[in-house]
Amino acid sequence: MDHWFQRELQLIEEKGLTRKLRSFSNGNESEVIISGKKFLLFSSNNYLGLATDSRLKKKASEGISKYGTGAGGSRLTTGNFDIHEQLESEIADLKKTEAAIVFSSGYLANIGVISSVMKAGDIIFSDAWNHASIIDGCRLSQAKTIVYEHADMVDLEHKLKQSRGDGKKLIVTDGVFSMDGDIAPLPEIVALAKEYNAYIMIDDAHVTGVLGTDGRGTADYFGLKDQIAFTVGTLSKAIGAEGGFVATSTIAKNYLLNNARTFIFQTGLSPSAIEAAREGISIIQNEPERREQLLNNATYLRLKLEESGFVVNEGETPIITLLIGDSHEAVQFSEKLMDEGVFIPAIRPPTVPKGSSRLRITVMATHTREQLNTVINKMKKIGKEMDIV
Ligand SMILES: *Cc1c(COP(=O)(O)O)cnc(C)c1O
Repeated sequence: MDHWFQRELQLIEEKGLTRKLRSFSNGNESEVIISGKKFLLFSSNNYLGLATDSRLKKKASEGISKYGTGAGGSRLTTGNFDIHEQLESEIADLKKTEAAIVFSSGYLANIGVISSVMKAGDIIFSDAWNHASIIDGCRLSQAKTIVYEHADMVDLEHKLKQSRGDGKKLIVTDGVFSMDGDIAPLPEIVALAKEYNAYIMIDDAHVTGVLGTDGRGTADYFGLKDQIAFTVGTLSKAIGAEGGFVATSTIAKNYLLNNARTFIFQTGLSPSAIEAAREGISIIQNEPERREQLLNNATYLRLKLEESGFVVNEGETPIITLLIGDSHEAVQFSEKLMDEGVFIPAIRPPTVPKGSSRLRITVMATHTREQLNTVINKMKKIGKEMDIV
């Protein structure tokens, strides 16, 4: 089979789309070491710095001491510990829902919900920029999937209007979109869902711990309550651990527990991940200053880059995209930054539309003002060299 692999990989190479791993020898702190060299890290999802926080590390090791390193079975057989249930009730409390159910990752949570809830005869309305795990959930479901233009409420309404039938309808959207960091127009989605009798599922992977009261998420950010059937999230970004969840009603949780294959046929989340996540959630609620620092850092960096003449996406999330356009230039910019000791990846088609290659920057609460200024100065310098600003 090696011949086949070679040919396939060559096709990827010819398109300039080969992916490679980089090996980090420390955690996602604001400064990282890659192949023995130091870099300022500006592309991590460890938004609040909790993945490397000593309190989470301590709780994780306590979890291991008490329960071991693995859960030993699926939640429905031998792998359901009291701490799984405590974590679920703490997530429900954070999200202000009746219940929550934990999966081994956000990816598996999305697949589990969509594939088990949406059946033949049902219709899913999915934003064109939704995360791959939502797309895969739609593919695994027997329902029909209709993709609407990104955040385009006219197109969504048009498609809702055209779709007749007695089946269930589900509108599914990222809360904050991974690539552009823009927030889904949830109030409009809620209004359309009401008018056309659809349910709403939102993926708050980049939002939980970041936006809304206590980092509660997109619905809270817009002051909406009880209109969302399923809120999916991850424990691996702002919360700083690993795993995924669905915040929902008690009855829907019971349904998922009995039907979602990615829940039923998966070993329970490991004790270290559970205990780290519980500590992360508690810190998020008790230390709002971390979130404030994160959002302040994002605002500062966005403003300074704009002032320097770069084209930056508007918004308030910690995902900042700096539009370059040409994919070779974007890669060159990123490589020059690497030479200067700054880690910011270039994002090219097919991940983003042609002609909109960009640098994708994420800030963390743990970036110091000095680190932010260093990056701004280096970007300005390279931008001038390359005639971009
Ligand atoms: C990261 C992410 C996921 C996947 O979460 P994991 O816990 O890493 O599997 C799902 N949806 C979105 C929008 C994400 O950004």
